[in-house]
Amino acid sequence: MRPLLARISPAALAHNLGVARSHAGAARLWAVVKANAYGHGLARAARALAAADGYAVLTLKEAATLRDLGVRQPILLLEGYFDAAEIPACYELRLTPVVHHAEQLDMLEHSARLGALNLYLKFDSGMNRLGFALGEMEGIVARAQTLARGGTLTLMTHFATADEAAGVAWQLAPFLERARRYRLPLSLANSAALLRYPDSRADWARPGIMLYGASPFVDTGAAALGLCPAMTLTSEIIAVQDVAPGEGVGYGLAWRAAQAARVGIVACGYADGYPRHAPNGTPVLVAGRRTALVGRVSMDMLAVDLSNLSEACVGSPVTLWGEGLPVEEVAAAAGTISYELLCALAPRVRVAEG
Ligand SMILES: *Cc1c(COP(=O)(O)O)cnc(C)c1O
Repeated sequence: MRPLLARISPAALAHNLGVARSHAGAARLWAVVKANAYGHGLARAARALAAADGYAVLTLKEAATLRDLGVRQPILLLEGYFDAAEIPACYELRLTPVVHHAEQLDMLEHSARLGALNLYLKFDSGMNRLGFALGEMEGIVARAQTLARGGTLTLMTHFATADEAAGVAWQLAPFLERARRYRLPLSLANSAALLRYPDSRADWARPGIMLYGASPFVDTGAAALGLCPAMTLTSEIIAVQDVAPGEGVGYGLAWRAAQAARVGIVACGYADGYPRHAPNGTPVLVAGRRTALVGRVSMDMLAVDLSNLSEACVGSPVTLWGEGLPVEEVAAAAGTISYELLCALAPRVRVAEG
């Protein structure tokens, strides 16, 4: 059997939810499980995160899957319904759609209303992606109050720089200044804000990446935040090559041996979700020791330098990321973020729980 395996730890997921809880104070937690729970498997993650107060997803399909699994907590639909045809399912599945533009309110106004509907009203406090302008709050709240027919309204915003030096204050202050007038529940914080800015916890926080055991920050690792990696991508060395000085390895011979080198070929490639643009030097663990990616990542394989790992041989265990090698470190080397690597785990990769 091909040795590539993604090991997903339900215990780590549950532990990380506990860490989120410890930062949340009295706030309730949406466990953000969009994108197949950041690659961890929606059903598996939902089970492991059963202590969450609710789940946040992107699509009706994900929401329906959660209800089929017996989930009873509230489910937040992060971008709401995309067209009017999705509105009846929001009632049937007891979802809480996010409403972020006026057309969505129009759709609701013109649809058959089947009772109370809890709504999240999303306001744009500076990210300029989704949400009503802050100045529209009064009119939008009034309109939504009618359309919700007794359902709860929650005011929401999203931070653009919670993980960076700029922080959240520049968005938080103008948002709160207006939102506080309505005495409605508020939902603001993603993982980075929840971890770093207690002022932003509000009533419902929306942690995602931290539940999977990765740090949202470039300057602080997951371990320092008390988080445990929930996904460890492991494989084995399937071949060893002795490479003479001046010879190259892989497509384009994009890495050349300066002196005689031993190179291990690992069963993992870009068709498994490993980033093809990861450069020479990207960290990889072989038999628990850190070494470096060499040459271009192929579809099904990649190469690592074994020159200083004389004991490594065919069958030696390899960790691409996870326990012992934080995914955010691999991501940084490849010029991306942990989120992208986790979400990109390909369906062909075998998964084991434990
Ligand atoms: C994905 C998402 C989150 C979770 O963000 P993390 O950085 O993974 O914690 C929170 N809120 C919204 C609106 C999102 O789309």
